[in-house]
Amino acid sequence: MSSPLDYYLTELHTLNAIGKRREKFYKKLVGSRFIDLLWHLPSQLSFRRLIESVHEVPESGLITMEATVELHQPGMRKRSPYRIWMRDSKNNQFELLFFNAYDRFLQRVAPEGRKIAISGQLKCEKNFDAVRYQMSHPDFMGAVTEIGQWIGPERVYGLTSGLTRSMVASVIDQVLKSARPLPEWIGDCTFPSFLSALRKVHRPESYEDLSYADLARQRLIFDEYLAYHLGMALSTRRPREQSIRASSHIPKLASQLEQLLPFELTGAQKKTIAELRDDMHSGQQMVRLLQGDVGSGKTMVAVMTACDMADLGMQTAILVPTEILSRQHGSKIGKMLEPLGLNVAVLTGREKGKTRKAIIESIQSGEIDIVIGTHALLEESVTFKNLGFVVIDEQHRFGVEQRLALSSKSKSAHILSMTATPIPRTLVLANHGDMDVSILDEKPLGRKTIQTRVISVDRLDEIVEQIKVVMGKGRQVYWVCPLIEESEKSDFAAAVARYEMLTQIFGDKVELVHGKMKGPQKDAAMERFLKGEATLLVSTTVIEVGVDVPQATVMVIEHAQRFGLAQLHQLRGRVGRNDIQSFCLLLYGQPLSFQARKRLETMRDCHDGFKIAEEDLRLRGGGEIIGTKQSGVPKFRLSDLVEDDPKDAAVLENLFAKAHKMANDILEKDPDLSSEQGMALRQLLILFEKDNAVLLRKSG
Ligand code: ADP
Ligand code: MG
Repeated sequence: MSSPLDYYLTELHTLNAIGKRREKFYKKLVGSRFIDLLWHLPSQLSFRRLIESVHEVPESGLITMEATVELHQPGMRKRSPYRIWMRDSKNNQFELLFFNAYDRFLQRVAPEGRKIAISGQLKCEKNFDAVRYQMSHPDFMGAVTEIGQWIGPERVYGLTSGLTRSMVASVIDQVLKSARPLPEWIGDCTFPSFLSALRKVHRPESYEDLSYADLARQRLIFDEYLAYHLGMALSTRRPREQSIRASSHIPKLASQLEQLLPFELTGAQKKTIAELRDDMHSGQQMVRLLQGDVGSGKTMVAVMTACDMADLGMQTAILVPTEILSRQHGSKIGKMLEPLGLNVAVLTGREKGKTRKAIIESIQSGEIDIVIGTHALLEESVTFKNLGFVVIDEQHRFGVEQRLALSSKSKSAHILSMTATPIPRTLVLANHGDMDVSILDEKPLGRKTIQTRVISVDRLDEIVEQIKVVMGKGRQVYWVCPLIEESEKSDFAAAVARYEMLTQIFGDKVELVHGKMKGPQKDAAMERFLKGEATLLVSTTVIEVGVDVPQATVMVIEHAQRFGLAQLHQLRGRVGRNDIQSFCLLLYGQPLSFQARKRLETMRDCHDGFKIAEEDLRLRGGGEIIGTKQSGVPKFRLSDLVEDDPKDAAVLENLFAKAHKMANDILEKDPDLSSEQGMALRQLLILFEKDNAVLLRKSG
């Protein structure tokens, strides 16, 4: 017999009510397992009102009533609905509509002349003077004696097309009915048990039951937070290894590099490099997060430290999220370190065959000192002779597993994660429980605030004129077109169209980069822009992170309202990288909602990445999800860590902190989760799909 846990993990399509046919709808809505469906909590309550006449229909439209079946009228053509004409007890006529109806079923439950009970959404259609009442697909139809069951409060679930409210509700009930209790993992008697909590939250009777004040809901939210903290702790808090000690080490290459640089390191860079050196002198493995706004010069910190490593004969690996960024880092860092006699290589999915083999061999032999690459670096075939330092650039773009996969290539390598995405205080704990944090809070000297303007796209002509002037002075311009949401196929169409239009005006000064282009083609375009041969780069958001072209001073962003603030800040950070005044033009199209305008104005007025991220979270509330990834907010299924209502926010913060403490206490006592409670917790991790953390811990 299968275990109680297995039951929760069963695939939804095994239920007759779902099968292969509806599986895809459920997948889209919740996921594929029983437990995924159970996490789908009711979001609202509605009240089914008992009425006597259609004129009494409440605003919600949800009613139950008795009525007499007058006439069946099958659809005339294939697509037209099957109609049943009804009459209420006050003698008003209305109709029931059925698409793809089973005639025989309808004739059986609603034979002409019989008084029946119906329940569902009654719509009132006003057409000039005439008023029609219609109900499509009643939720219930049956004998008058059953009417009592269909009156009163009723939970409402979020839906996707293809599924109805009553379908989802009845499948949830069915799944809950046969579920068995799991061993308790919290052992806190203020909360109901896991299964009774699930049963309770799916049976709300009042609005109170739907709120965060409800203990059953709290229990489940707590469970998710607990799984999250355990997962994080298990995967990041490996006991720090003894590591390469650099105690007597006097930086040689780094000092040489500093001499060669055309600029002075900022105070913040110097301070951070010193912090990193302290870590390395400690003899313990460094696990550090470097936070610094866009353009603060994080790369230099990593490169200086890589030099220290090279002094000791150790290699550095830099993981970056995009192909473009790998190439750019590769060429910049390569040029910087060439005079020092260091070898830099790039490895991405694009290096194939012989080239790839040669690079991998030279990494393994130790000939390469620094390798920069995308996910390709994580492959098993890539091994190092002597990996001492791992850098994760734009760390928020990577999952825990990927970060670990790279560091597992050397047990004791020092790890530096870098991000420009400011993480609001409440979330630092959530994401980086056990890392040390360095902050680059200073921009290189002479940088001016980027002047930001919010402009209607109707003024395109003026903008083009302005750009002409800027380009005339030898400066460069980015022009970003957003993804088009409706159709993935055409996500680059807008960029292509804009490129064609701008080519008419600026000729071969214009280049185009988008995600659908072939690698070499993309490189060539980027290369021309980097070298300044092209001065206007039209692109999709592929240039969002990391790209560094100091001569670029104007950033145009179309449909800026579609981006998250954090993402806009990243994009804007592509300009303002030298001492010339730079500009960012945020173009919007109509209609522009009040919210959207506010967000754009925030961008215009605010230049501090930290404040922007917080404002983003505040404005976004729980609703809009664009940019969640960029803001580094972990996403939860049962709650939104960011709530507008201070009361809700307080409840959640409290649960979150409590779960954090509990996770730490448990791991302190039972680091392998092998006690009885530990075994129960493993089940919790599996339910929330955090179990890979446990596996990783074992292998790492
Ligand atoms: P980010 O922190 O966004 O990754 P980068 O490392 O790309 O920033 O640096 C932005 C630009 O500033 C680069 O062109 C880099 O060469 C330059 N830079 C870095 N440090 C300094 C400095 N101390 N003074 C002047 N320019 C610097
Ligand atoms: Mg960077």
